[in-house]
This record gives sequence, structure tokens and C-alpha cells, in this order.
Amino acid sequence: METYHDLLCTPSPAGLAFECEQGCGRLLVVERGTGRMTVLGRGDPYALHRGGTPDVELSVGVERA
Ligand SMILES: [Zn+2]
Repeated sequence: METYHDLLCTPSPAGLAFECEQGCGRLLVVERGTGRMTVLGRGDPYALHRGGTPDVELSVGVERA
């Protein structure tokens, strides 16, 4: 059975931060400009995190930010 978590996107001076809304600890930051992704927290490895797929969210988020 698959578990879905939602990622909340929060713009910050360094870039975009994505944090798991369910609170499993998943946390990653996508740098503004370079688009480089840094995973700060792995969170639940069995959960599928939606809304924060960097490649998808990046193209939308960065333009807006
Ligand atoms: Zn999660």
C-alpha cells in the first residue's frame, strides 16, 4: 500500500524549501538560480511525496518566486 504525503513549498532567500505537510521529516531545498537540490531530511522513505517533485515544481516555482 502506498502512502502519499504532500510537500509544502516555502520560498526563502536561498531558494525554495519543500517540507512534508504530514510531518515525517522530509525536507529539501532547491537553490534559487542553480536549481540545485539539497536534501536536508529524508523523512519517510516509504511515502511518496507529491507536490514537491523538484523537476516539476521547480519550473513553476522559480518563475513565480
Ligand atoms: Zn512525508
